[in-house]
Formats: sequence, C-alpha cells, structure tokens
Amino acid sequence: MSQEKKKKRFSVQVESKLCKACLYCVASCNKGVFEQGKALNPQGYEYVTAVHSGECVGCLTCIGICPDFAVTVSELPD
Ligand code: SF4
Ligand code: SF4
Repeated sequence: MSQEKKKKRFSVQVESKLCKACLYCVASCNKGVFEQGKALNPQGYEYVTAVHSGECVGCLTCIGICPDFAVTVSELPD
C-alpha cells in the first residue's frame, strides 16, 4: 500500500441567484477557482461561477469572505 497521502478533491458551487458580484471570492481564492461571467442573475448581477472547481484545495477562505453566503465547498469522495 502506498504511504503517499491521497490528495483531497473538492466541489465548489456558487448559488447564482444569491451572488451580488462583489468579487471578494475572486480576489481571495489564490487557486483562481472563480470567474465572473456575462450572464445576469434575477437581481441583475453578472454572477460568479466556480469554473475551475477542480483546482480547489479546500481552504474555505471563500466561504468566510462571501457576504451573501452564496458559496458552498464540499469534499468529494475518493
Ligand atoms: S476553498 Fe479555498 S481554494 Fe477552494 S475555492 Fe474557496 S478560496 Fe479557493
Ligand atoms: S463573494 Fe459571494 S457575492 Fe461576492 S462575487 Fe463571490 S459569490 Fe458572489
């Protein structure tokens, strides 16, 4: 059996209707997971999506920084 620790993987979701496009998550994620799109949500904001969810390391900085509780990070099973 390998002694190497298996790298954890995460799924990142943004609830588009809650996002107010403040871009705090974009600025705070040093893995570049988030990007702002051109589509508008029902409130008229160009919401952010987690386009590079696979790069997430699970630091949870984005969860703490989003004022609108729009971000969810979940660990994926092996
Ligand atoms: S948990 Fe960390 S690495 Fe993952 S998306 Fe949020 S800020 Fe980026
Ligand atoms: S921090 Fe939250 S409200 Fe702000 S852009 Fe990111 S997901 Fe949207």
